[in-house]
Amino acid sequence: MIYMDNAATTKMYPEALKAMLPYLEEGYGNASSIYSLGRDSKKALEDSRATVADCLGADPNEIFFTSGGSEADNWAIRGTAYANSKKGKHIITSNIEHHAVLHTCEALAKEGFEISYIPVDSEGKIKLDELKAAIRDDTILITVMFANNEIGTIEPIAEIAKIANEHGIPFHTDAVQAVSQIPINVKNMGIDMLSLSAHKFHGPKGVGALYIRKGMRPQSIILGGAQESAKRAGTENIAGIVGAATALKVACQDIEGKSKKISALRDHLIQGIEKNIDYCRLNGHRTDRLPGNCNFSFEFIEGESLLLMLDMKGIAASSGSACTSGSLDPSHVLLAIGLKHEIAHGSLRLSLSDFNTEEEVDKVIEELVPIVARLREMSPLYERR
Ligand SMILES: *Cc1c(COP(=O)(O)O)cnc(C)c1O
Repeated sequence: MIYMDNAATTKMYPEALKAMLPYLEEGYGNASSIYSLGRDSKKALEDSRATVADCLGADPNEIFFTSGGSEADNWAIRGTAYANSKKGKHIITSNIEHHAVLHTCEALAKEGFEISYIPVDSEGKIKLDELKAAIRDDTILITVMFANNEIGTIEPIAEIAKIANEHGIPFHTDAVQAVSQIPINVKNMGIDMLSLSAHKFHGPKGVGALYIRKGMRPQSIILGGAQESAKRAGTENIAGIVGAATALKVACQDIEGKSKKISALRDHLIQGIEKNIDYCRLNGHRTDRLPGNCNFSFEFIEGESLLLMLDMKGIAASSGSACTSGSLDPSHVLLAIGLKHEIAHGSLRLSLSDFNTEEEVDKVIEELVPIVARLREMSPLYERR
């Protein structure tokens, strides 16, 4: 099988799996217990926290483990909204965020908060002048993703952080896709809160973290015991956390070298598609994009049929419509960059990782070209073009 759906989830690094196993076997102590079995878990937890902090340029006491990227996003946004609702009820975000952000904002809107959704240009870059113009006295949070999960566009995060900081507004970024693909230093970039998720960088599913800069006080949303400095309740998932930290450490070793290698594969894939298939469009920014992201729209065909035919050839990829929800609505991201519904429907995302090879990229191009041609032969739209 050729796996090119790394934006959906990734295969675990063997190092991460190996590091986890002892905590699923004999090292099962509760990190809050005082006997040595518990203390061993506590040590693993704090070592993992230090590792994650180190990869982000944060202090260990600014890292809080969660059940994943979705919880980290919910916490940052809901928690900041509730903690500051006396100051104001206005939140600024973009219109291409992940649903973990968008649906949280929509829920807050029902509770009386006001949300400004800043549009993006045709390459998926947020319109900074519109973001600036949206800022009000009662704005209590700006949340903009670091890089988009569908089209790969990287947002000008340091600039947005600067704008937010100048106005004294907390700034959160969903960096789930960016962490491990782009070097990040939260201090240098002026980021107040950042979400990450282990299964997007070759760690286990169900583990993530929220970086909360010292001084930021988002309200807790998971209540109970005093774990995570009494900010996030629940017995810690030690094995998962160890796996997450180990994966991040491996991912961040020579992040530039890895990104360069993956970007080269991506560009090879993009060129191969553009050279061999007409009526196609690269979605997202051509250069400011995630090293592993390749997203195309092919006119006259359906992304879903494309996926099924690729699957028959052993290639795993993803399309641009919200197939998970069973609806036929094209993705909000593709519509936000100005694609017409019928073009958005013919979209394909191929997302690469460290594990992909040039042979695999060549094979995908070789299989994709005749598949697109066959689907077009069956398409009345293509005939009428
Ligand atoms: C995958 C993803 C999430 C959700 O993370 P989970 O750990 O799966 O909950 C949030 N934001 C972005 C951009 C993602 O790609």
